[in-house]
Amino acid sequence: MADKSGKLNLKELSFSDSVSYYFDKAAPFTNTPKGLLDQIKVCNSIYKMNFPVKWGNEVRVIEAYRIQHSHHRMPTKGGIRYSLQVDQDEVMALAALMTYKCALVDVPFGGAKGGIKIAPRKTPVEILETITRRYTVELVKKNFIGPGIDVPAPDYGTGEREMAWILDTYMTMRPGEIDGYGCVTGKPMSQNGIRGRTEATGRGVVYALNEACSYEDDMKALGLSKGLDGKRVIVQGLGNVGYHTARIIRQYGAIVIAVAEADGAVYNENGLDIDDLYRYRQDKKSVRGYPKGKVIADSASALELDCDILIPAALEKQITDKNAARIKARIVAEAANGPVTPAAEQILLKKGVMIIPDIYINAGGVTVSYFEWLKNLSHVKFGRMQKRWEEKHQTNFIKLVEDLTGQKVSAKRINDLIHGAKEIDLVNSGLEDTMIEAYRDIREFKKRHKKVPDLRTAAFAVSINKIRDSYYAMGIFP
Ligand code: NAD
Repeated sequence: MADKSGKLNLKELSFSDSVSYYFDKAAPFTNTPKGLLDQIKVCNSIYKMNFPVKWGNEVRVIEAYRIQHSHHRMPTKGGIRYSLQVDQDEVMALAALMTYKCALVDVPFGGAKGGIKIAPRKTPVEILETITRRYTVELVKKNFIGPGIDVPAPDYGTGEREMAWILDTYMTMRPGEIDGYGCVTGKPMSQNGIRGRTEATGRGVVYALNEACSYEDDMKALGLSKGLDGKRVIVQGLGNVGYHTARIIRQYGAIVIAVAEADGAVYNENGLDIDDLYRYRQDKKSVRGYPKGKVIADSASALELDCDILIPAALEKQITDKNAARIKARIVAEAANGPVTPAAEQILLKKGVMIIPDIYINAGGVTVSYFEWLKNLSHVKFGRMQKRWEEKHQTNFIKLVEDLTGQKVSAKRINDLIHGAKEIDLVNSGLEDTMIEAYRDIREFKKRHKKVPDLRTAAFAVSINKIRDSYYAMGIFP
């Protein structure tokens, strides 16, 4: 990590070293004793497992992890990733990011992450199912899963289907556990999932960008106008996070001029129809050949096109010291975890680019996972108890106004006014509030501490302060 003179070589940091580097950069602004900083930073439990799986006519050894970074709040929480890149360092980094993310958005969990080293798109579905179920059995055997212990969720390469397999395996092994449905989030609706979870991370990214772009002075400093309307956006990754971000940001008037996928990018200066592109890719298994835009074979080069906002939503280490100088965006929104390396960050910050950090901007997923977990523990859908009552109450109120004024309110107006909140309304409202409040916390911290150099450092500092305070509340202080 450090060269002969003891200076940190940012270009050689591993992913987990990068997270520690950001932590160390923020720590001096937090007034936290060194011993406690060491405790907050370190990974609490690492479970590496290997198990055999029958694959056609052979047996293959599967490498998998579950890492709980912090037990200061229980249960721990974090997604499960399926990718050939998975290794201990990556899962440790992602688990640590979860701890800081949860603290930042006031989600009362410690951070965790899981990973299985497989290529999900190249693995037959029945083998994916066997691996997922076996992985869950291993977690149950070691007490690494449960609604009060550790609650996985989707991440890169996983989704509702895998979460349903995990739930089913867990419930089979723990029959009669009344809160068992809370052992995993991101489940399908039919398995006690929650409306809005699938798109929550992408929706959260858009709420965050909408808030960040609402400050005229901040935008002026970047040479941009206020608001998302008309902003030219590039998105990397058309998976869960990238697709929903690109789709929803268009509803705010932004123009998605390019989408970069693993096998190529598509560019159209007038804006891409994201649903149309998504359907094309589903159908052809590639973005190549898409007729309503220019296809760029070298996908990575699309990140360097001229735009206002660049949203990397694929994997870590996509913007490095090799391409950072060529990035033209004024705002980089880290929808993926760790897409900008520390060496690249230095280059971007020098160019005056605003980096909205991963631990804040992609926290929408875990926020709505928290709502799902609450729903599972309360065994009732949000809105079920009060929706009809609210509608009756509002109707009576309108009648009273009509009686007092002698004027009739139109049927359409009445309809708009009486509408009681459904589950999706409450979820999106809770998500929006969370993203707005957390951005204000970060921005105000940065404004109050003049020496805090960037939003990431402010976000880490706010997070460390909250974790420190929960240790203090437990009686752990010098
Ligand atoms: P996903 O598997 O649904 O989609 C990832 C997409 O990125 C895929 O379409 C893949 O083909 C594409 N991709 C891979 N390598 C690429 C490359 N080099 N260039 C362009 N595209 C590439 O995964 P996801 O759930 O959308 O996760 C994406 C990122 O967001 C990850 O870093 C993940 O940790 C983070 N994240 C996800 C969630 C969530 O709720 N799913 C929450 C928070 C953060």
